Amino acid sequence: AGRRARALSVIEELEGILATPIERLRLIADEMVEEMQRGLTSDQSGSSLKMILSYVDKLPTGDEKGLFYALDLGGTNFRVLRVQLGGREARLVKQEYEEVSIPPHIMVGGSIELFDFIASALANFVATEGEDFHLPEGRQRELGFTFSFPVKQTSISSGNLIKWTKGFSIEDTVGKDVVAELTKAMERQGLDMRVTALVNDTIGTLAGGRYGDQDVVAAVILGTGTNAAYAEHANAIPKWDGLLPSSGEMVINMEWGNFRSKDLPITDYDRSLDFESLNPGEQIYEKMISGMYLGEIVRRVLLRIAQEASIFGEIVPPRLEIPFILRTPHMSAMHHDTSPDLKIVAAKLKDVLGIVNIPLQTRKMVVGICDIVAKRGARLAAAGIYGILKKLGRDNVQTEKQKTVIAMDGGLYEHYSIFSECLADTLRELLGEEASSSVVIKLANDGSGIGAALLAASHSQYL
Ligand code: ADP
Ligand code: MG
Repeated sequence: AGRRARALSVIEELEGILATPIERLRLIADEMVEEMQRGLTSDQSGSSLKMILSYVDKLPTGDEKGLFYALDLGGTNFRVLRVQLGGREARLVKQEYEEVSIPPHIMVGGSIELFDFIASALANFVATEGEDFHLPEGRQRELGFTFSFPVKQTSISSGNLIKWTKGFSIEDTVGKDVVAELTKAMERQGLDMRVTALVNDTIGTLAGGRYGDQDVVAAVILGTGTNAAYAEHANAIPKWDGLLPSSGEMVINMEWGNFRSKDLPITDYDRSLDFESLNPGEQIYEKMISGMYLGEIVRRVLLRIAQEASIFGEIVPPRLEIPFILRTPHMSAMHHDTSPDLKIVAAKLKDVLGIVNIPLQTRKMVVGICDIVAKRGARLAAAGIYGILKKLGRDNVQTEKQKTVIAMDGGLYEHYSIFSECLADTLRELLGEEASSSVVIKLANDGSGIGAALLAASHSQYL
């Protein structure tokens, strides 16, 4: 009984320190707006938001026509894709794609080897182009390149790699223009193709979303990591000293995973997770929200309760001490367990952590912890979206029934339904009933590949 009381008091404390009351979320959203503003003013503002200019000043309208290719690199798989666009009436006439996994030695080898590997897969794919695809006589094939690593963009079709992430480590690419590297590799393959747009997955998702629905104003990724991009009024970007685009819009890559604010409920669990991470001090918001970290936070809480209240017996289960052993999909499976005796929770504890014979009361406690951690993440993500809507002046009741759509992508949002429902509920709570009736979150499944092809079209050399 003493154990149980101690465990309950740790959980009660957890509930308190991870709490995100609505007033606090409002403060966080306001700070998001201020950080956005600062990041748009100057690159030397010290804002936690880089607010990177994407040079995308034309989002798809639906009128795009012709054959376009895309290459999507950002994880262990990369995809090559082609679309035949038929203009306003026919729209997306045909699309084909292929997924290629990148051998581990390529991810940590040399730059030339990586780009040769990619260009060769692309050349093979182009060789299978069928009759349904048409390239007008005398024209070069055009490609949109989705490259989801931090890049210092220098134009719509060039940008220098700042650093590799997600398991890639190829020293000699850092600082180089990845489009130039890809172009040289395509030439070595004898492939005549021009890269007309370099974007990341967030911008690709925004472009794909806008093509399907002209009311899409922002895109959010909630997967392994998290990020957001949105279409800003070009005259609201003080650090942009180029010509104002005729569309009046410029897409901003927020890199919002790096957001920080004094009102974020940062606990000792978050501090130690950050301290022991590969990038201490960076991506603080991402570490409270995204799929890479939610399961790990739960593991840290369980470990502490095991140590302080022996809920899993006298000995702390050794596997519970292994960082990242409890993945967010495990957490989500336990959280969604609706069986009366919580058998999925029991199975996960056993299979993942090697913990057996756990009483129902304790299993319920585990679900309760998942709930607290997931809901904090979802509510913080909702506050971020609310911040973007505020920045755009879309947080109030809209005259003329103006709809506002957020394109969403990522495995966390797609598969963790308690998380996504909580996010939607919280956004509704922040906006209020009336304003929220004009705001929609739309799942844009893998829109980023098509989005890049569409951006290749809207930034074509033949326009
Ligand atoms: P990425 O973000 O790497 O491009 P995805 O968008 O497919 O890839 O997201 C994958 C991430 O989504 C995983 O790392 C995991 O954190 C999360 N995820 C996948 N499936 C689930 C699930 N069933 N429940 C909760 N999270 C999941
Ligand atoms: Mg992705």
